[in-house]
Amino acid sequence: MIDSYLRLLVVSPHFDDTVFSCGALLAATPGATVCTVFAATPPDAIVTDWDRQCGFQDAHQAMRAQQAEDDAALAVLDARPLRLNFLDSQYLRQSANSSSRSIVQALSATIRDIQPTMLHIPPGLFHSDHALAHEAAIEAWRTHPSLQCVAYEDCLYRYMDGLVQTRIAELAARDIVATPVLDPFDLEGLKRALELKCAAVSHYASQLRTFGHGGYDDVFTSARVDAEVRTGFRPCTANLMKQQHLRSD
Ligand SMILES: [Zn+2]
Repeated sequence: MIDSYLRLLVVSPHFDDTVFSCGALLAATPGATVCTVFAATPPDAIVTDWDRQCGFQDAHQAMRAQQAEDDAALAVLDARPLRLNFLDSQYLRQSANSSSRSIVQALSATIRDIQPTMLHIPPGLFHSDHALAHEAAIEAWRTHPSLQCVAYEDCLYRYMDGLVQTRIAELAARDIVATPVLDPFDLEGLKRALELKCAAVSHYASQLRTFGHGGYDDVFTSARVDAEVRTGFRPCTANLMKQQHLRSD
């Protein structure tokens, strides 16, 4: 069983990323905090292709609806939402970019406030927002080097050729080693966690509709593997990271 004293903080680029990538982990770790980085509503009710595909008239309607979806999903998992005030890249003007430094500062402050015993971050495999969230999370973690940090592999991107491998190689070049996690867990607990994950995922209706039939099978891939392997709890494919100079082994 997962350590009941675990205070888990998960960094999520967008609303759905954490539940899609490691919803079963959240289910097994009640009281976790999910910090969504790009959760700001743009001042103008602009219209983007993605929001329109999701069935929204404009950005204001989209952000309101997605926040409500996220609230409902996290409630299923007994997780607490925490939202940072940075704009999703689809709402930025072409030349603009969220300030990496500002995101690092916001995440560092969040770590100070929450004082987690475990930090989960995206490895930023694809999409500029994911890459930015990853980079900022790494820098924030560097300011809290004793904190255990796991990179959960971004759902929907982790099966793209070579992306995980490339990221792990890049981290190694920066003196950070990443090793798969093996947490012992009982099968009944695993089943329950996966049921809750499935229930939570269903709340992101606007996004699921846009991914289309078969477009989000990866959300449940690790669940299928978990059920078959039965040797341990792998709520998400995750890599424990260590800053090389701090390794004790
Ligand atoms: Zn995302």
